[in-house]
Amino acid sequence: METKLIKISEDNFSATIKQAGRILKNGGLVAFPTETVYGLGGDALDKEASKKIYAAKGRPSDNPLIVHIADFSDIYAITKDMDERAKKLSDAFWPGPLTMILNKSERVPYETTGGLDTVAVRMPDNGTALALIKAAGGYIAAPSANTSGRPSPTRAERVYEDLNGKIPMILDGGAVGIGIESTIIDLSGDEPLILRPGYITPEMLKEVIGDVKFDPALTEAKGDAAPKAPGMKYRHYAPKAQLILVRGDQKKVTEKIVSLIDEAHADGKKVGILCATESQSDYKAEIVESLGKRGDEEEIARNLFEKLREFDEKEVDIIYSECFEETGLGIAVMNRMIKAAGHQILDI
Ligand code: AMP
Ligand code: MG
Repeated sequence: METKLIKISEDNFSATIKQAGRILKNGGLVAFPTETVYGLGGDALDKEASKKIYAAKGRPSDNPLIVHIADFSDIYAITKDMDERAKKLSDAFWPGPLTMILNKSERVPYETTGGLDTVAVRMPDNGTALALIKAAGGYIAAPSANTSGRPSPTRAERVYEDLNGKIPMILDGGAVGIGIESTIIDLSGDEPLILRPGYITPEMLKEVIGDVKFDPALTEAKGDAAPKAPGMKYRHYAPKAQLILVRGDQKKVTEKIVSLIDEAHADGKKVGILCATESQSDYKAEIVESLGKRGDEEEIARNLFEKLREFDEKEVDIIYSECFEETGLGIAVMNRMIKAAGHQILDI
C-alpha cells in the first residue's frame, strides 16, 4: 500500500480533511497530529477498522483504544450512566490531554475496547484532529501512531518511519506541543483512579473533583502488580539499545554515569547518555543528548520520545540516563522513562 504523507497547510486544509474523512468513513486508517503525540485513527464504531489499527501497529488485541470526539454531546452515544465528574472534568480540561474511562454503550464494539465494558474517551486540542473527527462521523479510535513497543511519535516523519506501506495516509501537522500521551482517569468506579500520568497532573484533577488516587500498579517498584489500563503492562517506548536509569543525589549520579561510561568503553561498547542540559558537558560518550534544563518539565516531556528514537538511528549499544524529579509533569516523564528502561534503575 502506498502511504501518502500530506503536509497540512491553510491552502489544502479543507480538501485534505475531506479526503482523509472519506478514507476513515470507508473503514481505512489515517494518522494525524494531536497536541500530545501523533495518533493512528480508524472509525471507532467499525470493528473492522479497529482490527486494522491493531494489525498496523502490531498491538496486542487486549490493549484497548482511546475514542476521540470533537463535540461533548457525542459522548452520550458511546457511554452509559453519564457521570457528573466526567462533565466537570470535560468543562475544565477538554479539548485537552485528559482521557476518561466510562461505562460503554452497545454502540462501541468490543474490538475497540479490547473486550472491556468500559470505553476511553478524549477530545484532543488540535484543529486538524477536531476537523478530522467531524469529517469521519464523530468517533475516531486512535492509539499512538507508532509500532507497538517503540517510543510514541511526536512528528509525522516518525509515523512514516513506522507505518510506511501499512496505512494510506499520514497528515503532517509539524511537531506536537506536549510530547507525551494524555492522562488517563478511570471514572467507571466510585473512586476516581489515575491509570496513566500525563500533562494533567493529580493536583489539577483534585481542584475539580476532589481526591484522586493513582492506580497502585503505577507506584509498584518493579511494576509487578497488574495495571488497570491494560496497555501499561506492556514494555513501551523502548529504544533498541538497553536503557538504564541512574537515580539519586545529582553529584553521585554524574560520578556513577562517568564510571559506567568508562566501563562500557573498556568493553568496546558505543554509549548514549540522556541527561539535563546542566550536566551535558560532564559526559564524554558517543552521543550525549540533553532533554532540557532541570525543572523545565514541559521541555523535557516534549523532547523525550524524539531523543529516544535518535539513539536508534545512531546505533549505540547501551544508554545511561539521569532521572528527573517526580513532581507535576515530572511524574509522567519518569513513568515513561521507567517503562522505556524496562524498570532497570540503579539507585545510588
Ligand atoms: P495509547 O492510545 O497507545 O496511548 O494507549 C491507550 C491507553 O489507554 C492504553 O494504556 C490502554 O490500556 C488505555 N485504555 C484504553 N481504554 C481503556 C479502558 N477501557 N480501560 C482502561 N484502560 C484503557
Ligand atoms: Mg501508545
